Amino acid sequence: RFVSITGGTGFIGKKLVQKLIAGHNQVCVLTRSRANAELVFPAKKFPGIIIAEESEWGTYIESSDSIVNLAGVPISTRWSPEIKKEIKQSRIDTTSKVVKLVNQTDVNKRPSVLVSATAVGYYGTSETQSFDEQSPPGNDFLAEVCKEWESCALKVDKDVKVVLIRIGVVLGKDGGALAKMIPLFMMFAGGPIGSGKQWFSWIHLDDLVNLICESIANPSYQGVINGTAPNPVRFSEMCDHLGEVMGRPSWLPVPEFALKAVLGEGATIVLQGQKVFPLKAKELGFSYKYAYVKDALKDIILS
Ligand code: NDP
Repeated sequence: RFVSITGGTGFIGKKLVQKLIAGHNQVCVLTRSRANAELVFPAKKFPGIIIAEESEWGTYIESSDSIVNLAGVPISTRWSPEIKKEIKQSRIDTTSKVVKLVNQTDVNKRPSVLVSATAVGYYGTSETQSFDEQSPPGNDFLAEVCKEWESCALKVDKDVKVVLIRIGVVLGKDGGALAKMIPLFMMFAGGPIGSGKQWFSWIHLDDLVNLICESIANPSYQGVINGTAPNPVRFSEMCDHLGEVMGRPSWLPVPEFALKAVLGEGATIVLQGQKVFPLKAKELGFSYKYAYVKDALKDIILS
């Protein structure tokens, strides 16, 4: 298979590219910056990867079997009005561009699959409600972003299968929210953040990458799929496990101001949170390597 990926140089994309290559797929990284992509995927170590800058995206999209769309400016920043605009616009612009290029291809040769990222932020936040793929959208800023992001992806022509993965907080080595939070846990001895009652819908990076690969290859995977582990936890529970795995007592709450200093308003995701169940993945029989957060943390921190 030939898979082209936007955001392939990011935290999730890097791992996805490597997995696809290991599975003998041809991969094209659709990037805004060749120089950066070449640093992420040096030709000596990754000889087979094609790197395409924006002016070349159309050529490679045309010859792809599948497209994975992960691009977007990071949300873990201070949300000034300009940055909020960029958080939304970077996702909408890239998705619209990809969809337009797919729709322009010859119907007989076009990619058959578009897997597009979105987030559990779609549902808004709640300490009491549970959400699954059928739940209605929330009405905060991230919910708005996710709604528009998804509706852009759905503008692809009907003969292209669309999978929208509503991704939870991705736990993995060397990146994502966990890498930013660990120094805080070291500093404050790893107590809960905020009240600790907020829900934390997480997924191990390996499972998310496998879910994306299934979504590419398996015709039964289509429409909205929550990209979360089957056992969301309250944040205090996640902190207890993190403290235990790191060999640190979990008793001092990490102050909100400290979290906001590293995650900016993007901290709302871990300060408020939502309890999301991956009903669709369960129905499809998706097999998780890490169903419990403690096992995921052990793998990430200890191995
Ligand atoms: P990263 O921030 O690590 O990478 C995203 C990629 O998007 C970058 O490598 C970059 O690729 C591209 N990008 C950055 N800024 C812009 C911009 N202004 N316009 C267009 N493209 C840009 O993200 P992740 O890998 O963590 O996440 C991938 C997607 O999944 C994101 O859209 C994110 O919102 C979503 N998601 C992630 C979660 C997580 O916990 N990590 C949770 C929920 C959703 P390049 O420079 O090559 O163009």
